[in-house]
Amino acid sequence: MNKDVIRQHAAAGVTRAVHPDARRHFEAILEQLGESYPTALGECPSCGRIGLPERVHEHDC
Ligand SMILES: [Zn+2]
Repeated sequence: MNKDVIRQHAAAGVTRAVHPDARRHFEAILEQLGESYPTALGECPSCGRIGLPERVHEHDC
């Protein structure tokens, strides 16, 4: 599992984690990878949905 795959899983975990403590763990992983939570995720300019940049870019509003 390379660093990019880890980043994708951590970013997905941040967006999907229901429990705040669980989300903090995923955010910590992103921090260790040198990526802060806001910059690791993209936001849809139309509906404001937060997620992986490639995922947000492709989704249907
Ligand atoms: Zn959208």
